[in-house]
Amino acid sequence: DLLVIGSANADLVIGVERRPAPGETVLGSDLSVHPGGKGANQAVAAARLGARAALIARVGDDDHGRLLLRSQRAAGVDTAGVLVGGAPTGVALITVDPSGDNSIVVSPGANARLTPADVRAAEDLLAEARVISVQLEIPLDTVAEVVAVLPPTARLVLNPSPPAPLPPDVLAACDPLVLNEHEARFILGSSAGATPEEWAAGLLAIGPRSVVITLGAQGAFVADTRTGAPVHVPSPRVEAVDTTGAGDAFTAALAWRIGLGEPLATAAAFAVRVGAAAVTGQGAQESFPTAEEVAAL
Ligand code: ADP
Repeated sequence: DLLVIGSANADLVIGVERRPAPGETVLGSDLSVHPGGKGANQAVAAARLGARAALIARVGDDDHGRLLLRSQRAAGVDTAGVLVGGAPTGVALITVDPSGDNSIVVSPGANARLTPADVRAAEDLLAEARVISVQLEIPLDTVAEVVAVLPPTARLVLNPSPPAPLPPDVLAACDPLVLNEHEARFILGSSAGATPEEWAAGLLAIGPRSVVITLGAQGAFVADTRTGAPVHVPSPRVEAVDTTGAGDAFTAALAWRIGLGEPLATAAAFAVRVGAAAVTGQGAQESFPTAEEVAAL
């Protein structure tokens, strides 16, 4: 079973001709409201593929929180670990200009109130998990608590997004650390190097037992300290419509498959197909494929 511990946000999207300057007001399109946040996205992506998935998150006692709970339940996610109240639901205010560029303001809201105590209180869900997947849109203390109470039977998947400095014990627990080029460069700093081979070697040297670097249309690069040489896993070629949530769909698919016992490279070969399918549709959760849609790719 896959347990996702992470963020849940309402994405509020308005199309604009151009961004307002300070003090200025511009008129935009009708508002559209979508369920999002990396944790919520991953749980929905996994459940849509057929995984048994559960989510630990915190939302507000408000319409956005109810929207998020509805989308989780519609996908078949176990929402017993979704806590309600304490602050408004997290929101991403997104403006999109005609060239497709986004400007985003995030209000973490209830996500910032998901505490280490909330993790400890969910010990039943943790005990049942084969894989626990976390990201960094919740407090770092809470992520560190997941590592501290990680059952020996569970494997930790961490996507360090948005990137932040990570304590050594968190890095050492990752199996794998899943990240894109931007996040890899952030964590490695000036010593990063220029190729996926160099990033993977640099990352393995600071603690994780395995590393998966996503490379957009180029697929992913997989390095595991338990197997031999790192491998490049190419992505199927698709017509990209909207890449929002592709990384979340990839990570969820990977986490689910390693929980079923697949080797990391085999799981990555499935996950690149899920990521590719997710970029062929608009939106994040709306674009996540079923297992049949992945097979048809
Ligand atoms: P992030 O969204 O976190 O930056 P990536 O852009 O690397 O992550 O995308 C994650 C995965 O989604 C990739 O590894 C790949 O499988 C798939 N993907 C993303 N963009 C494309 C694309 N243009 N064509 C095919 N697959 C893609």
